[in-house]
Amino acid sequence: MLYRKVPKTGEELSILGYGYMRLPRKITGGVDEGRAIAQLRHAIDLGVNYVDTAPLYHLGKSEQILGKALADGYRGRINIATKLPPWSVRTSKDMDRILDSQLSTLHTHAIDYYLLHSLAKESWERLDGLGVLDFLDAAKREGRCRNAGFSFHGDFETFREIVNAYEWEFCQIQYNYLDERNQAGTEGLRYAAGKRLAVMVMEPLRGGNLAGRVPEEVERIWGEAPVKRSAAAWGLSWVWNHPEVTVALSGMNEEAHIEENIRVASGAIPGFLTAEEIALVERARDVYLRLMKVACTGCRYCMPCPSGVAIPECFSLYNSTTLFSGDRQFRHQYIGRHGGIVGDRSYAGLCSGCGRCEKICPQQIPIRDRLKDVSRTMEGRGFPIRLGIVKTAFQVYDAVQRFRRPGKRRSPEHH
Ligand code: SF4
Ligand code: SF4
Repeated sequence: MLYRKVPKTGEELSILGYGYMRLPRKITGGVDEGRAIAQLRHAIDLGVNYVDTAPLYHLGKSEQILGKALADGYRGRINIATKLPPWSVRTSKDMDRILDSQLSTLHTHAIDYYLLHSLAKESWERLDGLGVLDFLDAAKREGRCRNAGFSFHGDFETFREIVNAYEWEFCQIQYNYLDERNQAGTEGLRYAAGKRLAVMVMEPLRGGNLAGRVPEEVERIWGEAPVKRSAAAWGLSWVWNHPEVTVALSGMNEEAHIEENIRVASGAIPGFLTAEEIALVERARDVYLRLMKVACTGCRYCMPCPSGVAIPECFSLYNSTTLFSGDRQFRHQYIGRHGGIVGDRSYAGLCSGCGRCEKICPQQIPIRDRLKDVSRTMEGRGFPIRLGIVKTAFQVYDAVQRFRRPGKRRSPEHH
């Protein structure tokens, strides 16, 4: 593992930070707590010393599970980063109450890196007006948090204003090779580093869009590289290539991904990519920007939807359909997962247009309009009627199987 220094304190942080926002799930649903704990402890054993959580992640479960994961001596080996949710703050007293409750949930006396969560213009101005900077001063003075920062999803002008408003030790921005000119972007990265802030990068793989299966066009581009890397390794390497980046957060929930990311992190010194390799990444970026229809990172801030729409999952399958040239398997998956054949219905067409999700989406996606696109492409006309037919057929099939099964079980006794 390689480490980079926080400019204002000299503290050394692993360049790979553990994002505790996409925890492994059980087949039956819900977070697989045992596996989430074992995975994090394994990463700590291999040198990761920074973990990022928030009250929003898994609706509070992430902080709770992290509190358990850091028992047995692990707390002293890692820096905890968690966040103040602006949407839960109505008065300045709420800030103290929320921080105290986080300290209790995490079983710790101090948060190492405390962030104002997901700031943009409106949320920053509101928190500022409620005295959030006085709150941070007091929390640091009292030892309830050690370093103050903010995570950000607004425009560059607002970013600059926030950077200059306080003696922050760090900030957290969305940064990957698709987002160089989006939100804070490269300009924001350099600006913050120039002010001696540590910069933590979230979404280095754009919510997994830049990892795993890649479009054929991108595959061909990676094939031209003299040094072979996986899609995830290309994405992370590109981020770590920037000397201004302190930590890149990866939301790891597969053992193989943890091993791979740690391996990539062991060689990622600033400036290690060649000019030829950077040019390949730029070509891959152009392909993604042309093919991807919705810039959803899968952060799940918009969930739950009151109408039951599985917003990020619908966008993910829609993007996959367009990235992989209309591959029919994604439409089948869409019907299987969101059509209510088993479980509840959660397809895009259920959206009632209430607009609640758009108020909180850090990517400022016009979710209602994009869901209409999803519905048109993935569902088509008469979707509920077709679903009803499929569901009936499925129930008939299931009943026939049940009827047959007792016969099969009886058969050994007849021999
Ligand atoms: S606008 Fe649609 S998708 Fe968004 S919360 Fe309301 S019903 Fe759900
Ligand atoms: S739609 Fe927005 S809030 Fe919802 S998961 Fe995607 S990026 Fe996150």
